[in-house]
Amino acid sequence: MSGVEKIKKIAVVGAGTMGHGIAEVAAMAGYEVYLADISDEILKNALEKIRWSLSKLSEKGQLRETVDAVMARIKPVVNLKDGKYTEEFAAALKDSDMMIEAIPERLDLKQQLFKFADEHMPEHAILATNTSSLPITEIAAATKRPERVVGMHFFNPPPLMPLVEIIKGEKTSDETVKTVYELAKKFGKQPVVVKKDVPGFIVNRILARFLNEACWMVARGQASIVEVDSAVRYKLGFPMGAFELADYSGIDVFYLVFQAMIERGFKITGCPLFKEKYEKKELGMKTGKGFYEYPAPGKYVRPKIPKEAGEKVDHVRLIAPSINEAAWLIRNEVATLEDIDKAVMLGLGWPKGVSDYADEIGIDVIVETLKKLKEETGFEEYEPDPLLVKMVEEGRLGRKVGKGFKEYRPVEEIKKETILIRLEKPIAWIILNRPERLNAISPKMIKELGEALDELEEMEDVRVVILTGAGRAFSAGADVTAFAGITPVKAAIFSRRFQELTLKIEYYTKPVIAALNGYTLGGGLEIAMSADFRIASETAMLGQPEINLGFIPGAGGTQRLSRLVGRAKAKELIYTGDMIPATEAYKIGLVEKVVPPERLEQEARAFALKLAEKPPLALMAAKYAVNYGLESNIWAGLALEASEFGLLFSTEDVAEGVSAFLSKRKPQFKGR
Ligand code: NAD
Repeated sequence: MSGVEKIKKIAVVGAGTMGHGIAEVAAMAGYEVYLADISDEILKNALEKIRWSLSKLSEKGQLRETVDAVMARIKPVVNLKDGKYTEEFAAALKDSDMMIEAIPERLDLKQQLFKFADEHMPEHAILATNTSSLPITEIAAATKRPERVVGMHFFNPPPLMPLVEIIKGEKTSDETVKTVYELAKKFGKQPVVVKKDVPGFIVNRILARFLNEACWMVARGQASIVEVDSAVRYKLGFPMGAFELADYSGIDVFYLVFQAMIERGFKITGCPLFKEKYEKKELGMKTGKGFYEYPAPGKYVRPKIPKEAGEKVDHVRLIAPSINEAAWLIRNEVATLEDIDKAVMLGLGWPKGVSDYADEIGIDVIVETLKKLKEETGFEEYEPDPLLVKMVEEGRLGRKVGKGFKEYRPVEEIKKETILIRLEKPIAWIILNRPERLNAISPKMIKELGEALDELEEMEDVRVVILTGAGRAFSAGADVTAFAGITPVKAAIFSRRFQELTLKIEYYTKPVIAALNGYTLGGGLEIAMSADFRIASETAMLGQPEINLGFIPGAGGTQRLSRLVGRAKAKELIYTGDMIPATEAYKIGLVEKVVPPERLEQEARAFALKLAEKPPLALMAAKYAVNYGLESNIWAGLALEASEFGLLFSTEDVAEGVSAFLSKRKPQFKGR
C-alpha cells in the first residue's frame, strides 16, 4: 500500500477560517474527518458554515453526493477542557492516519498540540501544519517523528482555492512530501513543493515583494494608490490592484504575516503605509476603511479604478522585485520554475507565471530596473539576484532572443531587400528595413510588404502581425527619389498600389499592430493608420508633410486621418504638413499608447501575445464588423454583425470557449 492509500481518516484541528474549509475539502474527497476545536459552540458554527458551503456547491452541481452524505463524514470533537486535551480528542487522534492543524499562528500552541498528537497518533500517521509563517522544522521538533511532519499550506477559502504549498521541514522525508502531495491531489487541489523551509514559502514571498513595491511607489510620492492599482490591473493584468487586494483580504493579515517573515530573516524594508494603516486599525473592507473607503464595515464595493490612471506607472518596477525573489527561490533550490509559475497563477490569480513576465519584459531590463531601484533607495534587497545577472551574461535575455527562464521556438528571420520578417510565433514582426534612408517606402518595399502579408496570412500559427521600423524611424514616408520625372499616370498607379497595401492591412484577417519607433511621416503614417492599433515610442514624430512638396497624401491619408482624429484636426495636419510628437498624437487619438523607447518592443509584444490567445476567427469577425460598420450605415453594419455572430457558432472555437469557461480552464483556440 502506498503512503497515500494508508490515509483513511483525517483529524483537522482548529475549526476557524481555514480549518472548517479544510475539513470540508477532505470530507468531499471521501475521507472520514474528525474536526477538533476548543468548544462546542465553535464547532457548531463551523459545521453550519460547512453545510452552507456544501449546499452552494450542490446548487451549482459541483457535488456528486448529497450534502448530508458529506456532512455525515465529519465528526466534531471538543479537544480542550480546563486547559487539558480531552480523552475524546486522544481517541480521535489514535483513530486517524493524518492530522492537519489549523489553530492560531502561535509556535507554543502548535508545539504543544504536535507533541500531544505525536504521543497519541499511530506510528505511520503524518502530522501537517497549515502555518503561514512559522518554521515547520521548529514545529516538528516537538515530536519524535520530524520526518513525518510537513507543511500543508492551503489558501483561503480552501474549497475554492486550488493551490496547496507542501513544505519540507529540515527533517521531513521525501516519502512524506510525496504522500501529502498525492493527498492534495486527491483533495482535488494543485500542489507545489517548497523544498526548503523558508519564511513565506513561495506565494507570500513573491506577494510581499510586490505589495511592498506598490506601497513604496506611493510612499515615495511617485504615483497615487489609484494609479498604481490601475497599472497592476490593466498593465500587469492581475485580478486586483495591490491596495485593492490588501483592503479585500485585510491589511492586518498581510502586515502580520510579513512581520513574522521578517522576524524569521526575510530581508525587506517594510513600506510605512501598511504599518500606519495597521496601527490606525484601518484594515480595509472589514473595518469600512483601508486604502479605499467602503459604505460600511464588511460591505464590499469594488473601488473605481480607471484604466487610464495607470498609463504613466512603470509596471516593470512593480514586478521586478517579485521576479528577483523568484530567481532567489530557484537559485537556492527552494522551488522549481514551474512550481513558482503555478503558485502565482493559482495562489494569486496572476494571468501568467513570473517567468513569462520576466521573459517578456527582458531579463536585462529587469536587472537594470533593480539596479536603478537600489541606486535610488539604497535598499539591499534590490540587488539583482546572481541568477538574473548570470542570465544576462549568458545572453538569456528572454523572449526576444528565444531563451530566458524558458526556451522559445527559435526566432526565424527572413531578410528581403527592403524588409525583414521575424517569425516569433504566434507573432510575426515585419520590420521596414532601410534604416539609412529612414525606411523610405519604395515601390519595391510596397511589393515586398504585400507579399510578406500574404505569406503570413497563410500561416495558421501566426496570429498577430506587428509592423515596425529598423533604426530611428518607422518610416519617414514615400521614397521621393522614385518620383523624379514620374508621369501623372504613373503617379496615380503608384498611389493606387500603395492604397492597395493599406487596404490589405485594414482588411487583413489577423490583427495588425503598428509599433512606431521614430519618425512616422507621410506614407509611413498612412501604413500605420491602416493597422488596428498604434503604439508609439515617446520619441516618435508623426505627420503628413506632403503639402510641403506640392502634393497631398496618396495612400489613404486624407481618408483615414479624418476618421481617426476628426475632420478639422486632419485638415490642420494635412494643410500645414506639421509634425507632432507622440504625446500630442496620443491626445488627438492618432495613437493608442505612448511608451518609453526602450519599452516599445516589449509593450507591442505583450499586447500581441494577449491578442494571440483569443479566437482568431472571432477577432477577424470583430475587425470586419467594426471596420465595415464605420464605412457604411448602422443597418448594414448591424446586419453584418448579426451574420458574423451567427457564423461564429459554426466554429470549433466557440465550443472550446464555452467548455473552457464552464470548467474554469484557459481556452485553447485553434481558429477552426
Ligand atoms: P482562526 O483564528 O480563524 O481559527 C483558529 C481556530 O483554532 C479557532 O477556531 C480556535 O478556536 C481554534 N483553536 C485555538 N486553539 C486551539 C487548540 N489548541 N486546539 C484546537 N483548536 C484551537 O485562524 P485561521 O485563519 O483559520 O488560521 C489558522 C492557521 O492557518 C494559522 O496557522 C494561519 O497562519 C494559517 N493560515 C491562515 C490563512 C488565512 O487566510 N486565514 C491562510 C493560510 C494559512
